[in-house]
Amino acid sequence: MITGSEMKALLNRFPKFEDSCIGLEYAPRLPKGIVGETKELIAYARKFNDEVIRPRVLVLDRETFEDPGYLPHDIMKTASDWGFYTMWVPRLFGGRGKNLPSLTYTIEEISAACAGIANVIGVHFLGVTSLMTSFNMKLTAKILKETVEGEKKGEPCLISFGLTEPMAGTDVEEMDLVDRGKVVTHAKRVDGGYLVNGRKVFISMGHMSEWTAFYAYTDMKKPSKSMIGLAVRKGTKGFSLGRHEDKMGQRVCPASEIIFEDCFIPDEDVMIDSYSMKKFTKKSADAIMMRHIDYLASATKAGVCAISVGVARGALEDAIKYASETTVAGRLLINHEWVQCILAEMYKNVILGRLAYTEANNANAHRGTYEMLQVKPAYYYLKYMPDAYFRMIAPMLEKPFSTWAMSKMYLDRKPDKDVFLTSGMSSLAKFAGSDFGIRNCQLALEIMGQEGLRHDRGMEKRLRDCKVLQIYEGSNQMNRVALFKNLIAPSYPQARVWGESAREVL
Ligand SMILES: Cc1cc2nc3c(=O)[nH]c(=O)nc-3n(C[C@H](O)[C@H](O)[C@H](O)COP(=O)(O)OP(=O)(O)OC[C@H]3O[C@@H](n4cnc5c(N)ncnc54)[C@H](O)[C@@H]3O)c2cc1C
Repeated sequence: MITGSEMKALLNRFPKFEDSCIGLEYAPRLPKGIVGETKELIAYARKFNDEVIRPRVLVLDRETFEDPGYLPHDIMKTASDWGFYTMWVPRLFGGRGKNLPSLTYTIEEISAACAGIANVIGVHFLGVTSLMTSFNMKLTAKILKETVEGEKKGEPCLISFGLTEPMAGTDVEEMDLVDRGKVVTHAKRVDGGYLVNGRKVFISMGHMSEWTAFYAYTDMKKPSKSMIGLAVRKGTKGFSLGRHEDKMGQRVCPASEIIFEDCFIPDEDVMIDSYSMKKFTKKSADAIMMRHIDYLASATKAGVCAISVGVARGALEDAIKYASETTVAGRLLINHEWVQCILAEMYKNVILGRLAYTEANNANAHRGTYEMLQVKPAYYYLKYMPDAYFRMIAPMLEKPFSTWAMSKMYLDRKPDKDVFLTSGMSSLAKFAGSDFGIRNCQLALEIMGQEGLRHDRGMEKRLRDCKVLQIYEGSNQMNRVALFKNLIAPSYPQARVWGESAREVL
């Protein structure tokens, strides 16, 4: 029918089989245990929604308008008591070590009840992922150990993530654009560490976090070549919290300004910089940081998609309930064909959104940062070895060997084309999911009419919450360009992205 070399040539044409059929390729490698574990977490999240979120969600939202300075101490404590802040922390670091894709399914569930509370939990894993993809196992172990101990003591130790600056949002999301932004957070190399001055804005949970993983630049004329990652503990001299934004949606999850004034960060709290990485890799400073940001965003954009799918699903559930209880022109709304068509459309948006984050997860597991954790033997080993064993081997993580091993695996050995794939698929998930979320809120409002505008119906809150999802983790426009850059342009040498020729696929 077709020769082997013919098939290879045909499948290697745009769109490449290996890029467009990730799920199909990955399915045989998927450890079965992941399915049972994920089901259990979905059920657990539904219980959390019933017992904690649904009874209070609208009252809480109202409170944030009455008191714009509201901070979610009680929600954070409850989420910690339920174990959510260590649920996806690997067992090697003392956490509960659930499989990473299950985070997205769980977060979808929580978001179906409240996207803001989903982010009160989810953003901590943005901080965790920033640490874990920094290759710095010693600092990661130190901070995650505090998170685990904090949960045991009932004093949550959260990690937030600080990248955005007052004059640089989209620009700092992409290494290719950093030099165009007006970044102000400067790190000066001094004896034993860095002296940091500058400001970050819109940092989710900044006011609530014990640690913030953040980024600064050592050369303000060439930020793309001099970006470094650091971690700062709340209460450090020279580090303070500024404004808490009075914003449109997800009001329960504060967005904070953080300020650095001659703030000294010791070497032991430097997450990633070329100065410390040069002993492990020959890659240039910007190539190291580009990999780090790409790995980080590939995981977290799937999470933003999951929060968005939660909103889309919540809107669908509310619309079905309303249509089942409301009579128009002598018939229940649910028995009008126009309503059935809208509900079918909304259902489709939920399923396609979920497929988008599943495929981003598959890409991460098949060719990205989850790869090592989800090969069958590694997955079962990490799942079933006793805690005592992990306690025994944990000190090894603090040796330079672990950073060396991570750098070899993720900086030197991983081909660029794998990084393009995971980045492109996660950008796709991010903008597709949040657009589906907004669309479903609009469609639900079409069914509900004026009733849908009432605060106590919850739909206007969902719409406000979802708008935020189109903006953070890179605006949807930026993510569309990122998809083009990562998945389309490499096959078309004449394509220019942000004025530059596309990154060459090696
Ligand atoms: C509620 C909330 C929570 C957040 N939490 C965090 C957090 O925890 N940590 C953190 O670091 N940041 C956080 N952010 C910041 C977020 O990542 C930025 O808002 C986002 O990157 C967009 O930047 P911007 O808002 O400055 O938009 P701008 O960069 O000003 O963009 C404005 C518009 O121009 C478009 N645009 C800009 N440049 C380009 C380009 N080159 N090509 C195409 N289109 C372009 C954008 O798509 C957008 O539509 C949060 C934001 C919000 C709203």
